[in-house]
Amino acid sequence: MHSNSLYQEVILDHNRKPRNYGKLNPASHHAIGHNPLCGDRLDITLQVEDERISAVAFEGESCAICKASASMMTTAIKGKTRSDAEMLIAEFRELATGKLDINQPHHLGRLTVFSGIQDLPTRVKCAILPWHTLQAALNSVSNVSTEDTSNDLQAVSSQS
Ligand code: ZN
Repeated sequence: MHSNSLYQEVILDHNRKPRNYGKLNPASHHAIGHNPLCGDRLDITLQVEDERISAVAFEGESCAICKASASMMTTAIKGKTRSDAEMLIAEFRELATGKLDINQPHHLGRLTVFSGIQDLPTRVKCAILPWHTLQAALNSVSNVSTEDTSNDLQAVSSQS
C-alpha cells in the first residue's frame, strides 16, 4: 500500500543514485521527451535485441519526480520483452492518472509508490514523461512532448 514516507524515501534514493543513468552507444532506439509545464527533458536510449530490451539508459534535466520515475522505469523494463514493456507503460499511465485499481492484479511492483501522484495534477506529467518517451522510442518516434495535441495526456492537463 502507498505511504508518503515510502514514496519520499524512494524518490530520494533514486535521485541520489539514479539507475541506468547515461546514454547507450550504440542504441537501437532513441527518443527525447519534453514536459514544458515543468521543464523536464529526458533522453532515453534502448538496445532491443530479438524483441527484448537488453539495455536501457536515460539522462537529462528533470525534477525529482521525473528522475525517480525514469530511474525506476529503467530497472522495471530492463530484460523485458517489448510487449511486456508496452503493458507496463499502459499500467503506469493508468496508475498515475488514478484509473488503475491497485488491488487488482497488475505488474507494477514497487512502481505503485507513484499512486499518490494522481492527487497532484501538476506532477502527473512529470511522472509519466519517462514512460511517454519510452513508448515513443519503441515506436521509433524521436521527439515527443506531454503537450502534443494528439495524445491522451491532454485530458490530464485540463483537470489541473
Ligand atoms: Zn517535473
